[in-house]
Amino acid sequence: MSRKINFSAGPSTLPLSVLERIKEEIVDYKGSGFSIIEASHRGKEYEAIHNDAINLTKELLGLPNNYKVLFLGGGATLQFGMIPMNFLPQGKSADYIVTGTWSKKAFSDAKKVGKPNAIYDGANHNYTDLPSFNSLKFNNDAAYVHMCSNETIHGVQFNGLPDTGNIPLIVDMSSDFMSAPIDIKKCAMIYAGAQKNIGPAGATMAIIRDDFLERSPGNLITYLNYKTHAEDNSLHNTPPVFSIYVIRMVLEWIKGQGGLKAIEKITNQKAGYILDAIDAFPDFFKCPVKKEYRSKMTPIFRLPTEALETEFIELAKKNNMVGIKGHRSVGGIRTSIYNALPLEGAKAMGELMRDFAKNRA
Ligand SMILES: *Cc1c(COP(=O)(O)O)cnc(C)c1O
Repeated sequence: MSRKINFSAGPSTLPLSVLERIKEEIVDYKGSGFSIIEASHRGKEYEAIHNDAINLTKELLGLPNNYKVLFLGGGATLQFGMIPMNFLPQGKSADYIVTGTWSKKAFSDAKKVGKPNAIYDGANHNYTDLPSFNSLKFNNDAAYVHMCSNETIHGVQFNGLPDTGNIPLIVDMSSDFMSAPIDIKKCAMIYAGAQKNIGPAGATMAIIRDDFLERSPGNLITYLNYKTHAEDNSLHNTPPVFSIYVIRMVLEWIKGQGGLKAIEKITNQKAGYILDAIDAFPDFFKCPVKKEYRSKMTPIFRLPTEALETEFIELAKKNNMVGIKGHRSVGGIRTSIYNALPLEGAKAMGELMRDFAKNRA
């Protein structure tokens, strides 16, 4: 078997041990005589998995008791609409920090529901920079502040979270969830599509503080109300069982790595291989993002010409590395180094970059 070093931005690489366990269990789940994807979501086999996934999340994040962990369908994208439907009442506004494609989409859906404010919009510099937390002026009566911690396409990542005081903070963490400890007390809600850092596509995790959840209005259709999912432990309807089954295993794997502090250390090391290679050849590699905000999860960079970028992508393929073509909207190279991408994989990429720059510069 030859597995590629997979830098795909999402769906993305998963731990080999998890894939092998799926293979082992998929036909006959632990001697039950059926597959877990053939089992009732109300049966004891699935229920144990479901609750394990929730409990592991609480444990890894050190969640206080007043937060609920929800599994939802519809991707992070559905949250862009559900958030204002649940938390942006008529006559109120919400503050959006627009730092790239994803937060822009969230803002755009909020405009269909109410009247949000973009208190920051990085469009004028093509989302290559971020605001300092001190420079942000939140509106005191905002229903919430929305931000994206790592813009997956533009490769910009905040360092930490802002203090929004009494204004509830909502964070789209789709592409850096579980890559480091989270200052959860600053957040009223965080959410993340599973397929970047914690599992396969199909499930989205939302973590919501109880008092904030109480603000959801009663007149929303059932599925779109976060309270429905909180009250029924994300078993109101059939949840994405396969995705949650795999998420549970990935969370166990993260715990086995030593938890989020240990993961953060490895993430920094992996990002170092790529970012240091960029810095070592500043005339050859250009990262458009301001240095202090370069993403450690999805670093992006350009080469001197598109022809060289194509050549580099081909060379990477010959060296067993795939998934590094930048998003079609921005071009260039993107090396997503999510949790399951091995340290040696990031190291090999850094070395390939250095060799290529030496040979072509
Ligand atoms: C991928 C991504 C999304 C969209 O996720 P879907 O699950 O495909 O809807 C939203 N936000 C961020 C930051 C992402 O990286």
